[in-house]
Amino acid sequence: MANAVAKIFHFILHQYKFGGGGEDGIRKKMRDVYRKQRGSSSSSSSSMAPSCQVENCENDLREAKHYHRRHKVCEFHAKSPSVLIAGLHQRFCQQCSRFHEVSEFDDTKKSCRKRLAGHNERRRKSASNYGGDAFH
Ligand SMILES: [Zn+2]
Ligand SMILES: [Zn+2]
Repeated sequence: MANAVAKIFHFILHQYKFGGGGEDGIRKKMRDVYRKQRGSSSSSSSSMAPSCQVENCENDLREAKHYHRRHKVCEFHAKSPSVLIAGLHQRFCQQCSRFHEVSEFDDTKKSCRKRLAGHNERRRKSASNYGGDAFH
């Protein structure tokens, strides 16, 4: 009887030791898996990094100002008088915070004609009730 108990005790002790070693191995493995997952997730998030919407622009917006990241334009192209987007010559409008075709701007203005006209129109409307010349 005592012999049987000792056998079971030994068996349990053996299992415990073995299990202890195994646990270390599992922990190591889990750490490797965790590291791999982190690595893959960080590499996928880098492809999600904001980039300038101008064609072939490789400026990294991760270091850029919040404004430029938000509007997906690098500082350089936000100031360019003409950039190529979707095959069209466009300029970044500071009023709309987006790109318009260069033809929507007057000369070297940084705001589109529509916006500038909108300002004038509002001023005209407040001066007179006649709305017939809204297109001028
Ligand atoms: Zn750019
Ligand atoms: Zn605009």
